[in-house]
Amino acid sequence: MTTRREFLKQATAAGILTATSFQLTHASKATAPARAAPTPRRAGVVQTVLGPLDASELGFTLTHEHIGGWTSDFSRKWPESFGGRAGFVARAVDKLKAVRAEGVSTVVDLSPYDVERDVRFFEEVSQKSGMHIVACTGQHLFPPESMIARSTEQFTEFFIKEIEQGIDDTDIKAGVIKVATRSDGVTAFEEKALRAAARASKATGVPIETHTHARRRGGEKQVEIFEAEGVSPTRVSLGHSDDTDDMDYLIGLVRRGYTLGMDHINRGLKPDAQLPWQKRAERIKQLIDTGFVDKIFLSNDSEFASSLLPEEARDEREKTNPDGMLFNTRKLIPYLKQISVSDREIHAITIDNPSRFFTRS
Ligand SMILES: [Zn+2]
Repeated sequence: MTTRREFLKQATAAGILTATSFQLTHASKATAPARAAPTPRRAGVVQTVLGPLDASELGFTLTHEHIGGWTSDFSRKWPESFGGRAGFVARAVDKLKAVRAEGVSTVVDLSPYDVERDVRFFEEVSQKSGMHIVACTGQHLFPPESMIARSTEQFTEFFIKEIEQGIDDTDIKAGVIKVATRSDGVTAFEEKALRAAARASKATGVPIETHTHARRRGGEKQVEIFEAEGVSPTRVSLGHSDDTDDMDYLIGLVRRGYTLGMDHINRGLKPDAQLPWQKRAERIKQLIDTGFVDKIFLSNDSEFASSLLPEEARDEREKTNPDGMLFNTRKLIPYLKQISVSDREIHAITIDNPSRFFTRS
């Protein structure tokens, strides 16, 4: 954890902050790195909700999670349903502190505007828990009517606005672009979002993470569009890739330079899971043995604050994966070690790969 003083020292040395912007904006803030505006576009920096952070400070990074998405915006509309906002924040902070205590220092939240994101919530829980949080711009699968009709150019403009100026009416900036396709094909609307993600990534140097339907080789359709737009594969991670064990598909994508988000391993805990979690973990080992340790991300796609779920559904989820966002550190990584993945390889996957990927290029 970087204290404010340490960060200020580093940031001043690196020319990130001016004394004035720091004093005006951050005089009252406790720990965690401070935010500076405008964001400098310089090598080695990752955009977090509290400001630009040296990539070497990211540490162990969970690359696809949902801290407050699905619920946090709604919690503003009906705070009583969460025991009030303060209670909701307190619960999230407790959970994030527990995750930090087990060695995770950064969480990437892939909840864009259509997943009820509340970026002030991220800011507050990051400050209070000490967890670095990277927020996203982009588009998931629930566009409101007002967005469906927009053009690729308008989406591009919107994504760049959230990266360069800030999300909603804040100056909290996105550090990654999230886009999604629902199935094996790409709908006309999804195509606009994918093209816009590609253009915004090229314009800003911010990378792209996607939601794919891996069992239907959905990633291949996405990368066709990214390639047509001229995005470097090194700037794209294809999420939920462990939902398939089709090694022809997976190896094909890493050979082309794409990173695979192996972020659904815990879904294999379900008693009726088609792919048990150990099998998913073994695909990771296979990718490493084929020479692609630098093309793997680990995460949990966890929604630990999803208090909006009816109680039964929530219980079911918690029963299936009681470790939540700690599944990787408690179950998956010990199992990977058991099947001979080395500490160095774990370090590469959890620390080096995210640090390289999330750095603005
Ligand atoms: Zn997700």
